[in-house]
Amino acid sequence: MQQINHYINGRHTDKSERSAAVFEPATGQHKANVSLASAIEVDAAVELAKKAHGPWSEMTPLNRSRILFKFKALVEANMDELAAMITREHGKVLDDAKGEIIRGLEVVEFACGIPHLLKGEHTEQVGGGVDAWTLNQSLGVVAGIAPFNFPVMVPMWMFPIAIAAGNTFIMKPSEKDPTSVMRMAELLTEAGLPDGVFNVVNGDKEAVDALLTHKDIQAVSFVGSTPIAEYIYQTAAAHGKRVQALGGAKNHMLLMPDADLDQAVSALMGAAYGSAGERCMAISVVLAVGDVGDALVEKLLPQIQALKVGNGLEGEMEMGPLISAQHLEKVRGYVDTGVAEGATLLADGRQLTVADHEQGYFLGGCLFDHVTPEMTIYKEEIFGPVLAIVRVKDYSEALALINEHEFGNGTAIFTQSGEAARHFCHHVQVGMVGVNVPIPVPMAFHSFGGWKRSLFGPLHMHGPDGVRFYTKRKAITARWPKGNSGQAEFVMPTMK
Ligand code: NAD
Repeated sequence: MQQINHYINGRHTDKSERSAAVFEPATGQHKANVSLASAIEVDAAVELAKKAHGPWSEMTPLNRSRILFKFKALVEANMDELAAMITREHGKVLDDAKGEIIRGLEVVEFACGIPHLLKGEHTEQVGGGVDAWTLNQSLGVVAGIAPFNFPVMVPMWMFPIAIAAGNTFIMKPSEKDPTSVMRMAELLTEAGLPDGVFNVVNGDKEAVDALLTHKDIQAVSFVGSTPIAEYIYQTAAAHGKRVQALGGAKNHMLLMPDADLDQAVSALMGAAYGSAGERCMAISVVLAVGDVGDALVEKLLPQIQALKVGNGLEGEMEMGPLISAQHLEKVRGYVDTGVAEGATLLADGRQLTVADHEQGYFLGGCLFDHVTPEMTIYKEEIFGPVLAIVRVKDYSEALALINEHEFGNGTAIFTQSGEAARHFCHHVQVGMVGVNVPIPVPMAFHSFGGWKRSLFGPLHMHGPDGVRFYTKRKAITARWPKGNSGQAEFVMPTMK
């Protein structure tokens, strides 16, 4: 049985007292055990990261960036191996796993520009013989806590910018799929990253709580479900840290009657069923405006029934299993609830079995029609391959539903009307908006984040907000007077 421990100060550690089982979702087999760190082990990692911070932050930004360039090349060279690790532990199909690595690498590419990104502002002669400028300096030791659904990309939203800016990092991956982060830690060492700059501490609530309350952790980045995001935000902030905590979602597609329906249906298939719906930017609700609902169902249903569901390691599959037996039960429970609450179940994935994978956590694509806003399957995040169609009379009713929902991560409008699209972009209360784009995940040089209960904290992930989050500003005002400049002044100094 494979044993996964921690990666601290440039090497793998011994096993912790407690461990958790890691499963292969496609087969349901127990494949590995992962160590769960105690508070004492977290302390030891933070101590080493703190020691590494001094020399690392003194290294020139250009040299830090050069290590990231090498890391990028190593990830590309090991792409197949990393993608297979993701697929084996998460279940998503191989090409999707590669896609997540590429989206993560884009943040590495952005972080390689750190010499430029760290430049401050400068004003000459703010007063007679006085100049002013700003410095952007590292915070110290910072921590990242990741969810299971993007085991490579979400950590890469965090650590490349953090370490490029001169911080040292403690990563706490999901205990459900920790292997690919451990491999990235090895590749960072191979790229020349000094020991202690990037550390992986595996664990559960005990390790997370130790990070949230540790006096030497300066900032915490979190991505996961909303109840935990809220807890992370409150606890870490109460312990004096900067926090960005990204939570759950219920992303709506607003489908206007004038949309190109074929294009919208293709977009919807990928956005609702890709990665078995386990994406925070998955579309889980379609608001079908006017009479577009019937035509939508007619085109959508055969495609859902034709979905190729199976082991993601086998080529040609479009959808893999869910992450765990518990999550499969939870999602099936939502489907049962939808039926009990009176929605029309047009595609029922509960009956699916995959040959030679009878113990795998598979669920076929599910489609509900005539869902209403009072239903549980409308209100709650399901995080599975379950799409709900809500029929609405007009655009205004659709917009109001999106704006009233508790989550505000992503949304999309499909239309050929520039006027409707512009109105939507301006008035919708959601952090990331697509116009004929179903999953509007911003590129690495923009920032990623939702509104409402999809994000706690003011700064989004990566892009300019990422640089801002992982640096503190210092404003300097300087003059070089000759001799004694005059008498003491007891009034508020003003520039003359
Ligand atoms: P989760 O909240 O269960 O776990 C996330 C992390 O928190 C894990 O590392 C886990 O070990 C830790 N954790 C879990 N319970 C904890 C507790 N009680 N105390 C302290 N730490 C705890 O989330 P998940 O199931 O791994 O991921 C799925 C969720 O993540 C979905 O809700 C999804 O929408 C969300 N997500 C959001 C985004 C976004 O950008 N907004 C991106 C990806 C995933």
